[in-house]
Parts: sequence; structure tokens; C-alpha cells
Amino acid sequence: VEPVPSDIDIAVSQEPRNVQEICQELGLSGNEYELYGQTKAKISLDVLKRLDYRQDGKYIVVAGITPTPLGEGKSTTTIGLVQALGAHLDKVAFACVRQPSQGPTFGIKGGAAGGGYSQVIPMDEFNLHLTGDIHAVTAANNLLAAAIDARMFHEATQKDKALFNRLCPAKKGVRQFAPVMLKRLQKLGINKDKPEDLDADEIRRFARLDIDPETITWQRVVDVNDRFLRKISIGQAATEKGHERSTGYDISVASEVMAILALATDLKDMRDRLGRMVVASSKAGDPVTADDIGIGGALTVLMKDAIKPNLMQTLEGTPVLVHAGPFANIAHGNSSVIADRIALKLAGTDGTDMEPGYVVTEAGFGADMGMEKFFDIKCRVSGLIPDAVVLVATVRALKMHGGAPEVVAGKPLPDAYTEENLEFLEKGCANLMKHVENAKKFGVSVVVAINRFTSDTQAELDLIRDKALEAGANDAIACNHWAKGGAGAVDLGEAVIKACDREKQFNFLYDLEQPIEAKIEQICKKIYGADGIELSDLAKKKIETYTAQGFGDLPICMAKTQYSFSHDANLKGVPTGFTVPIRDIRASVGAGFLYPLLGAMQTMPGLPTRPCFFDVDLDEDGQVIGLF
Ligand code: ADP
Repeated sequence: VEPVPSDIDIAVSQEPRNVQEICQELGLSGNEYELYGQTKAKISLDVLKRLDYRQDGKYIVVAGITPTPLGEGKSTTTIGLVQALGAHLDKVAFACVRQPSQGPTFGIKGGAAGGGYSQVIPMDEFNLHLTGDIHAVTAANNLLAAAIDARMFHEATQKDKALFNRLCPAKKGVRQFAPVMLKRLQKLGINKDKPEDLDADEIRRFARLDIDPETITWQRVVDVNDRFLRKISIGQAATEKGHERSTGYDISVASEVMAILALATDLKDMRDRLGRMVVASSKAGDPVTADDIGIGGALTVLMKDAIKPNLMQTLEGTPVLVHAGPFANIAHGNSSVIADRIALKLAGTDGTDMEPGYVVTEAGFGADMGMEKFFDIKCRVSGLIPDAVVLVATVRALKMHGGAPEVVAGKPLPDAYTEENLEFLEKGCANLMKHVENAKKFGVSVVVAINRFTSDTQAELDLIRDKALEAGANDAIACNHWAKGGAGAVDLGEAVIKACDREKQFNFLYDLEQPIEAKIEQICKKIYGADGIELSDLAKKKIETYTAQGFGDLPICMAKTQYSFSHDANLKGVPTGFTVPIRDIRASVGAGFLYPLLGAMQTMPGLPTRPCFFDVDLDEDGQVIGLF
């Protein structure tokens, strides 16, 4: 339809297929999926065992140029591409995307279901509670937060023996260790099966974690942009007997539990990672983990349904797996390993005449953030080797990188954006070219997808294509899936199929065995184009601590602004001649990465003056309106 209606109008005008029909079409047996109403289903991890013999389908990651306030359409292109592959080119094709956080949905960005005629539906369910996975993450995170403070409180108010008796109460006259406590004994090197056998020294070591309150890194979380929770005081009631301390809230999708959901390879791996999470140091300087607190098992129980990916559909009825939603600036920004693996098996072949299908997974923000973390963190954990990268660019955003005037919210776009302007565009193409060159460093094929806007001219599209090819892209295709759905991305689909068939030599950017500083420096120099890095005293101290604690071999998850290759959001295009300041380095030991903080990154966003929630309501028929 011309002009293209609003995202939500398109989304509600399409009656979704019953998701059970999609499950059956995918060959899932009745016990491999659980229906959550008519349009959502959770997929069991048992599929992985049943289809273990299959070779994986083709694996494609969608990334983008450096984001601008104009929006580049990565989600829209991910969905448009799978609609083209699945509904027009007759392939089995999955999209694997993140579950959006309520923060951006009601804050600045709006939803993340794609746009125009390339969307996940029903978009209100997709953007809001889905099947409750983010709520489960919040619940698990906050149970642990409560446990840390309660444990310190009890340790301060009780003697060793009393504490021990409470931790191992006698049931029917017999004292026993809870299973999770045996792990702690093992860690302490104490080989006693029965609580009675512990001597006074062992009882003290077992019952006291001696958490140093100054070292607690675990924060509470909520999935709301609530800036007033960034720093809070807790323990102010008289019942807490003066155990006050300062702490704060992060947004749920920035939490380590969310990162673990995204990186876990199976239930047991998730259990181990949840138990390994380090929340503080003891007064002696040893890391204190969730398992030390005795909570790893309970956290896993809270997360046991969240680990199953959610099946939804595109506007054209093809399958979409929605799973996990870590932010890409402060976390690793990719949907789950498990969803990708399940999709790759369902799209796999048995080596006979069965054609491989295609799995298109999306990496958040610019390719310097989501894509680098996809390769160096996610692929390292999953062992999966991607076949191609699709890099999304738009004429408008590249013009902004080339120095076109700033865009003011609520005002019409300056002419430079709505009329042909090859000068700004050519300058801005440098940003795309650097991302193409970066993607090639990982040894995979690169296809540039030029997401067309109605005002783009042929000369502009041709210019981007020429520049992309000059930078080493295997192909560059202008596509129109926003206005035309999958039919508008058939050329892109064909180019991606070809790119997947090319020889590839996938490699990581850095080796894990390198020192922490060297790993950070490589990302900054090779991907961001920096001259070098400058470590703060705090960052240097952290490097020493983590190296001594045995965490030096973890990969690096940079926490950096998404708006620039550099640490300075104002530097568009391809900045040069800068040194990256590393303010601090933190560890997500359970998720399995170290995250350096560059500049002033916030782990809890705020709401803007005019938040998206202004527009959201229910109409008279009970339909959600105003989401986009
Ligand atoms: P990203 O994933 O890069 O953040 P999205 O795919 O979520 O971007 O798109 C952001 C917004 O831009 C959506 O509302 C979408 O409808 C709109 N959009 C995307 N592509 C186009 C296009 N080609 N023309 C007009 N609007 C578009």
C-alpha cells in the first residue's frame, strides 16, 4: 500500500497464523513445543538432541553502520531478508532476534519488531511481556541481590555456631548439607560428608563468606528506564540494625543473568554459569560467587523456562525465534546461542538431497559493537562459524556521517537528507567502508544491504554500492523490504545465498591467552581505528586483580557508546587520531567476559522529555495503539 501505513497499522492488519501450524511445518513433535496462546510457543532444547546428526544450515549475521538518530533499519532488514528467503525464494529461513526491553520501548527508541512490511507479529506481544523471560531474569537477579545483603546481615548478627546451625538445620534429627553447599565445601577443600564432622575452624570458614561490602558489584535490576534508581541507599529500616549501604539499579537487559541466558549452551551450562557469577570479594580478597551464597540452583529454577527460545512469525508467516535481549553497548548485544543452534538444526540438512536452510541472526548497534562481540564472544562460546555478514546502511544515515546538518526532533528533515546530495553521501560512505573492512578481518563474506527510503535517488544508491565494493564487500544490494516486504529483498536474498557458498576462513580478532591489556588494545586499534589506549589507575588495578584471580583468559566485551567508532559519541564518520580512555574494567565471570568501561557509560537509561509511552493506549476494541 502507498503510502506505507504505520508499523502498528500494518502489524494488526495481518492475521497471524496459528503458531502450532508453524511448529508442525518445522517438523516439531508435540512434546517439543509448548503453546503460549495462539501466536507464541516455547521450543524445547530436546530438538538439539533429536537433530544432532544434521549438518547446520547457513548462518548469517546482520549488523549495521554506526547508528544515527535517523535509524538504519537493522531489524527491518533482518525480517525483510528472511521473508525474502522463506516466502519468495522457497528456502527454510529463520530470523533469530532479541526480545526488546521495556526500557527503550517506552523510552526513546520504541519497539524493535522491524518496520513497514517487514515485521515480527503480533508486535505488541513481541515488544512487551512476550512469555516472561525478562521478568524471570529480573526475578533471578533480585533474589541474588536480596541474598547478598541478608547473608551479610546474618553473619554480622550471629555467632559461627548459630549461623552454621541455621544453614544446616536438623530435619527429623539429622543434619544435612543442601546439595549446593557441598559445592562450597569442595571449593574450600573440606572433605566431610556430615555437618557434625566439621571442626570449629571449618564451621567458621563454611558459615562466613566475609563479604567486603565495598566490593559488591551486584546491583538490583528492573526493566524500566528509571534514572532515579541509579544510586540508592538500602537498609534504612530499624529492623536492619544500621546495615545501610549505597547501591543502585541497572536495567534488567544489562544484567549478567541476561548475558548468561544469551550465552548458555544448555541447561547444565546455564546452571554452572549462574553459580560462577562473582558478586563481591571477601575481606581476604577472594571472589565470592553465587554458589558460595548457595543460590545457583534456585536461580536456575527461576530461569528454567526462560532458557527455551520463543517461536513467533514474520508478517509473511515465516518462523522467528525471539530469545534473550542483552544491550549491545553495555552487554554483548546478541540473541541467544541456543536459539541460533536450534534454528541451525531445524534449517539443517541430513547430507542427502536436503537443501540447507538459512538462519539470520541480528547483532545490535553498529558492527563495531554487536558484530565484533558476535564473533569474538558469541561464536567463541557456541563454536558456530558464520557464513556471511549483512551490513545495513541507509543513504540518510551515511549523509549524517558525512557531515550533513544535525537533525532536530520534531522538525522537518533538512534538504540534504530529502534531496540528492552526493557530496555528504560520499564523505559518509567512509563509515560504511570501515565497517566492511572490519568485517573482512574476520574472514567472512560481506553483503551490504542498502535499506531504501522513498527519497533515495538511483545515483545515491549506485554511489554506496561502488564504495562498498571498493572496500571489499562481496556484493551490495539496494532493497525495498520496508515498503514491499520480502518481495523487496529478493535480490538481497539471492546475494546472501551466493555469499554463503563462497570459501571462508573464519578467524577471531584476538587470542584469549593474550594479556587483558593487549586484547583491549587490539579491539581499539583494529576495529575502532584508535592510536592506542590509556588505562586509568583503577583499570590497571583491576587487570592485576583479574589476572591474579584467574580471569585473565576471558574475552572482552567493550562497553562503549554506539554512536561513534570512538568513545566520543560526537565523533561521526571515521574518527582518527584518538586514544581510548579505559575508565574501569569489570568482570562478568558467569557470562564469561571482562567489560572495560569507555567514557561515561550508563547501565540504567533515563526517560526523555517526550517518552514513547505518551502515544501508547488501548483503543475501544482493546487493541494496543501507539507502539512503533
Ligand atoms: P534498527 O534495528 O537499526 O534500530 P529498525 O529496523 O528497528 O532499526 O527500524 C527503525 C524504524 O525505522 C522503524 O520504525 C522502521 O519502520 C523505520 N524504517 C526502517 N526502514 C525504513 C525504510 N526503508 N523507510 C522508512 N522507514 C524505515
